[in-house]
Amino acid sequence: MIRRWIEEMASVLAENRACLSELDSPIGDADHGNNMERGFRAVLATLPETEDIGALLKGVAMTLISRVGGAAGPLYGTFFLEAGKPLAGKTELTPEDVVQLFENGVTGIRKRGRSDTGMKTMLDALVPAADALRSTLAEGGDLAAALKAATDAAEAGMKGTIPMLAQRGRASYLGERSVGHQDPGATSSYLIVRALGDAVEG
Ligand code: ADP
Ligand code: MG
Ligand code: MG
Repeated sequence: MIRRWIEEMASVLAENRACLSELDSPIGDADHGNNMERGFRAVLATLPETEDIGALLKGVAMTLISRVGGAAGPLYGTFFLEAGKPLAGKTELTPEDVVQLFENGVTGIRKRGRSDTGMKTMLDALVPAADALRSTLAEGGDLAAALKAATDAAEAGMKGTIPMLAQRGRASYLGERSVGHQDPGATSSYLIVRALGDAVEG
């Protein structure tokens, strides 16, 4: 499942390279799609030959941290590093493991980015996704239903960044002029959540 997720992320981020960089053009430096596509291409090329989920996620993290410049590489790197820490040695995930994967990853981004929801960042898609995962499972839904709810929540969170004033990253330099644009990092985060749903279903 995790290997399939990684492959699905690489493919969907490559497909959306131009669109993600276009979103980064009015409120950034027009490189977000290129950063993500290049980063995940390197991830695929360096992915260890193991079924150990902790090791796979650590591999993703190390490659993103070392190979992707800018804000998103280290932040997504931290997400996957923290997400994978409790999963060392595991070859299968329970639904609860998947919730914790997201919650630990989000906590890592919060700390490293000194950021939270409402600041017009990737967290505006990832945090609602993690919350929807947890609440759908608590209500008795299965993992597929929880990932569907998480994808919908991430999409709503992504769209919710449009009216926000950016408070972190390059977009924050624009002040009021950052309002009215969808955050590129929240958009890649939505694609990353959706990719897990597709990996689990497919
Ligand atoms: P750069 O801005 O260095 O060119 P990218 O364009 O790849 O890096 O990534 C920009 C995205 O990174 C933003 O859209 C935003 O979602 C995210 N981001 C930037 N700073 C932070 C932060 N401190 N916390 C969380 N996310 C951030
Ligand atoms: Mg950029
Ligand atoms: Mg840049």
